[in-house]
Amino acid sequence: MQFKLHPVPECIKSRNPAPHVSSIEQYKEIYEESIKNPTEFWGKLANELITWNTPFQTVLSGGFEHGDVTWFREGQLNASYNCVDRHALKNPDKVAIIYEADEPGQDRKITYGELLRDVCRFANVLKAHGVKKGDTVAIYMPMVPEAVVAFLACARLGAIHSVVFAGFSSDSLRNRILDASSRFVITADEGCRGGKIINTKKIVDEALLGCPDVERVFVFRRTGSSSVPFSSPRDVWWHEEVEKQRPHCPPEIVNAEDPLFILYTSGSTGKPKGLLHTTAGYLLGAATTLKYVFDYHEGDIYGCMADIGWITGHTYIIYGPLAIGGTTVLFESTPVYPSPSRYWEVVAKHKITQFYTAPTAIRLLRKFGREHVDPHDLSSLRVIGSVGEPINPEAWEWYNEVVGRNVCSVVDTYWQTETGSIIVTPLPGCTSTKPGSATFPFFGIDVAILNPESGEEITSTEAEGVLAIRRPWPSMARTVYNDHNRYLDTYLRPYKGYYFSGDGVGRDCDGYYWIRGRVDDVINVSGHRLSTAEIESALIMHSATAEAAAIGVASELKGQCVHAFVTLKPNCEGTDVKDLILQVSKNIGSFAKPEKIYIVNDLPKTRSGKIMRRVLRKIVDGQTDSLGDLTTLADPKIVNTLIENVKKS
Ligand code: ATP
Ligand code: MG
Repeated sequence: MQFKLHPVPECIKSRNPAPHVSSIEQYKEIYEESIKNPTEFWGKLANELITWNTPFQTVLSGGFEHGDVTWFREGQLNASYNCVDRHALKNPDKVAIIYEADEPGQDRKITYGELLRDVCRFANVLKAHGVKKGDTVAIYMPMVPEAVVAFLACARLGAIHSVVFAGFSSDSLRNRILDASSRFVITADEGCRGGKIINTKKIVDEALLGCPDVERVFVFRRTGSSSVPFSSPRDVWWHEEVEKQRPHCPPEIVNAEDPLFILYTSGSTGKPKGLLHTTAGYLLGAATTLKYVFDYHEGDIYGCMADIGWITGHTYIIYGPLAIGGTTVLFESTPVYPSPSRYWEVVAKHKITQFYTAPTAIRLLRKFGREHVDPHDLSSLRVIGSVGEPINPEAWEWYNEVVGRNVCSVVDTYWQTETGSIIVTPLPGCTSTKPGSATFPFFGIDVAILNPESGEEITSTEAEGVLAIRRPWPSMARTVYNDHNRYLDTYLRPYKGYYFSGDGVGRDCDGYYWIRGRVDDVINVSGHRLSTAEIESALIMHSATAEAAAIGVASELKGQCVHAFVTLKPNCEGTDVKDLILQVSKNIGSFAKPEKIYIVNDLPKTRSGKIMRRVLRKIVDGQTDSLGDLTTLADPKIVNTLIENVKKS
């Protein structure tokens, strides 16, 4: 498929203040320097962006071979000091968090001064109940400012937070509490999302039936409902406890390589892995990418719509924006509550300058139509970002034109829970974009494309294979919690000397990278390797398509053939499947055309909004008794509907 090149709009280049990187030549120069002299490059940034209690001497040691990477090994610091104190001391009245509550109109602003006092008080609460350095603390909380306080209070004590997305069931929560050996849980009475109440504490209690080692549960009062189960002395109320504590708590100074948090992956491909991130490298990755990828400048209002339960929320709602002393928006609601205009009302109200969301949300809003976007004043926006899945070019164009009004930088950012921060991305002000391509590697990220079978590196500009990384970068996960062998097996052993991402990738004649989706999802039709992203993007070009998922199904003749699941836009029920198939032959070639298309009401997605193709594959294969781990599925009920759908057709 051929796609339009979007040069950087003139108005971005001539902006005041100028973008941090203002030409592609400058990007290339910095990039090459970062690869040639990583020690100098990261060492300098680490001194610029992080406040150290003890300076580091060794920038990088260890490597992929033994999985013993360390960054800044002698350095000592505290992450909460870096995210709060140093800004509060300088500028206590600057707004740190804008909390946009579920119900419009209930927003609240928290300054750095207030955040510091809140974090200190709560850290003292944790301490009083026995939390100490190295303990793991489970956080299962709605999107309220106190959740941010909980993250930072753990970091202040050198305790390791393990955040579990508050949409997970009690079973999923229990598994994660047990896997991370958490003896403490921080939660809320209830959550509010999209006008609905979530029985947060009830779910925690169910989970804890199987967690005898949990000693204390800290309960924040979000709704104040009287029917919330509460069992003393295990459970304590947040508001009662903080009243006992003074708002001063010296930060526990930790080593650069001491753990900051554990976080489980989304579970798109199988059993989630509890990745462990360490303090200094992670923080540096978060701060650096926040500054350059989003072209952050003093005074910006940064709005990432992810949930704090995912890596995107960790890095780009909390650690990145706060490390850099910015103002971050914490959005409790959904893109469609109370109407599909919600995002744009929020952007206009808070004058958001950087807006970051996922393709699933963009496709959803595109389905509802631009009439929900157009009436809102989006002139504050400078950078609009996407993360989580390949973004279909059609959705990219919509985002750029309707939301970005052709004057914003669109950053399609590729990264993973494992990478800690963005690794392939355009930079505002310098990168000409191609819709659907994440463009070029970020500074210090030495990307390689490997032949999946031989493991050989493909050095030609045009290449197709698996995405690997040649050398360590600061924010990479250091291990899978309590399972270093699984870490080695998954990431470092498949291709000796490389970090293996698990994703397929292409590099075009201009050197642009195109993430093809997971290697396990690649479809092989008569020897042609097809990415699911490519077929889905073709299907979405049809004006009736809202979303699409393509899978490979065994075929005697071709090895594999393509089947696709499609959801339609409102009022498009009559769409002829033949037209959809034609769209694929037209855009890719007739060899790629789906043998079968199922029109469905919804696609199976993870709770973070990613399409779970492995479920569709199993359903079509008739292996409905071995669907694998479904606990990360957003709506498990959908499986039976899909099985019926496939049977009928
Ligand atoms: P699991 O590892 O448990 O299967 P997951 O990989 O979905 O779950 P995450 O770490 O949240 O968990 O997601 C990272 C993955 O998301 C990447 O490996 C990639 O497949 C996909 N991804 C993220 N951003 C992009 C992007 N901009 N373009 C294409 N794919 C992306
Ligand atoms: Mg993954």
